[in-house]
Amino acid sequence: MQGRIDTISANMPITATMLYNLVQCPHRVSMDLHGDPGARDPVSPFVQLLWEKGCDFEEEVIEGLRVPFTNLRPFSEEERERRTLEAMRRGDPLIYGGRVRADDLLGDPDLLRMGGGGYVAGDIKSGAGLEGETDAADGRPKRHYAVQLSLYTDILERMGCSGGRTPFIWDIRGREVPYDLDAPEGERKTGTLWEIYRDALAEARAIAAGGGRTVPALAGICKLCRWRTACSKELEGRDDLTMLPELGRSRRDAMIHALPTVGALAAADLGRYIRGAKTAFRGIGPETLRKFQERAILQKTPRARPRLKAPVDLPRADTELFFDIETDPMRDICYLHGFVERRGGDTNGERYAAFLAARPTEAEERRVFAESWAYIRSARPCAIYYYSHYERTYWRKLQARYPDVASAAEIEGLFGSPSTVDLYGDIVRSRMVWPTRDHSVKTLAKYLGFKWRDTDPSGAASIEWYHRWVQSGDDAIRRRILDYNEDDCIAMRVLLDAIRTL
Ligand code: SF4
Repeated sequence: MQGRIDTISANMPITATMLYNLVQCPHRVSMDLHGDPGARDPVSPFVQLLWEKGCDFEEEVIEGLRVPFTNLRPFSEEERERRTLEAMRRGDPLIYGGRVRADDLLGDPDLLRMGGGGYVAGDIKSGAGLEGETDAADGRPKRHYAVQLSLYTDILERMGCSGGRTPFIWDIRGREVPYDLDAPEGERKTGTLWEIYRDALAEARAIAAGGGRTVPALAGICKLCRWRTACSKELEGRDDLTMLPELGRSRRDAMIHALPTVGALAAADLGRYIRGAKTAFRGIGPETLRKFQERAILQKTPRARPRLKAPVDLPRADTELFFDIETDPMRDICYLHGFVERRGGDTNGERYAAFLAARPTEAEERRVFAESWAYIRSARPCAIYYYSHYERTYWRKLQARYPDVASAAEIEGLFGSPSTVDLYGDIVRSRMVWPTRDHSVKTLAKYLGFKWRDTDPSGAASIEWYHRWVQSGDDAIRRRILDYNEDDCIAMRVLLDAIRTL
């Protein structure tokens, strides 16, 4: 069997894009190779925008290069491959847009740089080179970047012209971030990036040969994937466990042999799987297993209603603010702070206040932050509701960027106050059970009967609208951005009122 797989996969080159997708969702690779192309959803405008931004950034970086380089980007794929070999034989110091191949591996590294007695590969990324970086902590390599760089390095080694296992990323911050492929992935993860690559490569080969069976898993990443409709149908048909909020692929895979469906989990006698402080499922403790069973039972109960597991103490205030921000990670900017303000519980009299950056500049970001902070202070005393830690995290970031607007103590005071409530973290996630597939405010408010005015309401869509608005100045797009944000704020009010009735 292995021989057959090797033969078939030899005809299907393994590319960096395949490995990039594989570490995020193996099923994506399988669908791209073997799925019915007619079943794909259209590319979303946001994904289109990401591609364009990536290309623009790469162009900008290359135009700004102050060292001589060999540019192979304008040529066809075959030409690029041929000319890359020629350039490497000549010993050109820097090759842009090359293509390398060895055995069943095919790579299109943005850069090949002479060094270490051979070549090392690099990619230009319009994102941060590391993940999890904060003021207090160093970041760690991104797996999806690491597997791509490893593939290029593997090809160079097989060609006998590798300059070592330290490829690099040129990232959005203008840094060169080296990836040491033989180093452990992180402090707690002892496996090396190279080992992760080898595993990913073996899995990709199996999938390419049709021998690697994959199943979809519902996750945040599905929202932007072209197979979301096809996978959604399959997940429903399978009654897949990932349709339970937060369960995810790895827990599903740990449980699938004993409890393959939501129905099976709902009906299970959990005592059979719990041994003291452990369960039969790797990485899942008894409390977590019970929590997921609770969710499964509710999901399987006809006409089930959400319920509170513990009492909640909501602030009492005449003025309530429902607060939501919109940010653009590509420009690293917060462009909108929106508030729905309700006084005396009068929903009909509520009003919307928005602070929208007219341009994606620091000056505008500072202005709207300052105006929002002044607005909150003028509305006090009030209760403030937001959804998930994102608003708090981003306001801390804005405070660090513009310390003249508010002090750190003021921002900590704002979010640490008992009158400021994270509806997701403080209530929905920790004290409630919902019969829904996720806990996003969109899902919960829609479940409660609320309808967004826009046909495509999402944070990703808002970012794309903002890009178009700053380019065109079209007032209809500006209105769309504001209406969407206002509806997000109203959705929180709908959710709060529902929680109060429980
Ligand atoms: S929709 Fe989700 S599960 Fe399906 S291929 Fe895409 S990322 Fe994977």
